[in-house]
Amino acid sequence: MSLARKIPLILLLVLVVAAGLGLVVVWPHLEGQDPQLIIKSEPTHLGRLSILELSLGDEGTGLASLRVTAIQNGKEYKLLEKNYATGSTWERHGLGQASEKLEIKALEQGMVQGPATLIIKVRDRSLRNWFHGNLAERQFQVLVDTIPPKVTVLSRTIHLNRGGVGLAVYKANKPLAVHGVQVGKRFFPGVSPWPQDPLAGMAYFAYGDDEDKNASLKVMVQDQAGNQAGSGLTVRLKWKEFKSDTLNISDNFLDALAPRFMAEAPPAKQQPLEVFLWVNEELRRQNHQQILQVCSTTSPQQLWRGTFIRPLGKPMAGFADRRSYVYKGREVSQSTHLGVDLADLAMSPIKSTAAGKVVFAGPLGIYGNCVILDHGQGIFSLYGHMSEASVRPGEMVPLEGVLGRSGATGLALGDHLHFSILVGGVFVTPTEWWDPHWIKDNVELRFQEASLPWPLAAR
Ligand SMILES: [Zn+2]
Repeated sequence: MSLARKIPLILLLVLVVAAGLGLVVVWPHLEGQDPQLIIKSEPTHLGRLSILELSLGDEGTGLASLRVTAIQNGKEYKLLEKNYATGSTWERHGLGQASEKLEIKALEQGMVQGPATLIIKVRDRSLRNWFHGNLAERQFQVLVDTIPPKVTVLSRTIHLNRGGVGLAVYKANKPLAVHGVQVGKRFFPGVSPWPQDPLAGMAYFAYGDDEDKNASLKVMVQDQAGNQAGSGLTVRLKWKEFKSDTLNISDNFLDALAPRFMAEAPPAKQQPLEVFLWVNEELRRQNHQQILQVCSTTSPQQLWRGTFIRPLGKPMAGFADRRSYVYKGREVSQSTHLGVDLADLAMSPIKSTAAGKVVFAGPLGIYGNCVILDHGQGIFSLYGHMSEASVRPGEMVPLEGVLGRSGATGLALGDHLHFSILVGGVFVTPTEWWDPHWIKDNVELRFQEASLPWPLAAR
């Protein structure tokens, strides 16, 4: 074959190779998989400030852009436009994942009260769709509402003891998403137990033994569009100093306690005194975290009636006693005793102090074998140091239902019951709850002042 006849063939070969190479280069850029678009909580309202949290992803060519717009009365409002693509179009693998937190201020955008459509569009870097990329799109019908709710406190002066509990009853002018009482940094969520009056709410709140003397107290509400409002509570706080107690710890005490906790304590802390200090400080802190978690879910209904009953036994230690631990003449640790200790006959039956639901039963660090009951609306009772618990989580127990037997498990040496009451996960003085006068003046009266019935669950 002459050279002149070979040239077209060589050209053809070059063209085929070039086309093949081109396809190899272009093909991945033609992927047809849509980007992922996950919305943390699907929007229904736009308030003064609404947060839109998005997770975006694209496994193929990577993310190209995000566009969030709103359409209201035929007008388009651009809320966010973001390009992720950097470098040249031919550079593969743009950003594979992104998370965005968008603050939407509907009023500042010029939007007005009323319905609107929120549109979220994510595109990838694919060359499909005439170089526009694959599209993931979500639309939401939302209501623009930037008018804050109003809340009126219906109860009058609330008399509060340091370490005690108050009840606030209030009413809003529109449906609420969240409501409750703020005490300093703590928030106590409320409930709306009146079907005939759905805008009325109530919240039990604690003035913790560790609360600041000047902590502010207010009812806080938030509507479905996220608009917030507050209203101060009129409170008369009775401040008291708690008892101080010095506990001398002996080597006998340490030798008896340490083996119980050695397996749990860190390997570097195995001397009896080191084990005790770890239990009294670190384990106590962990246990209180766990109790707070257990108390974060509650029945919206009141499950108890009348008053709580005081467990049997001789009082050994009181609520919020400030304890100082002295070893060989030196203070080595401190703690606050967040309950009452009552000693009866060893292994005596422990009974529920009010009707409720078992939400915890089992070993709980310093509290040993422990049972926690939910009495509804944020109120819980705790029974510690038991030799055995005879109930299971999820069980309903009546007033004076047997929960188990007393013992000396956990951080205890002699057989006794450690009894606590908690409101919203905060330990409070139990004595208020077994005093019928306190219940009348601080629970029943609040509903009377609000002209609302005491919302009791059906028997
Ligand atoms: Zn105790």
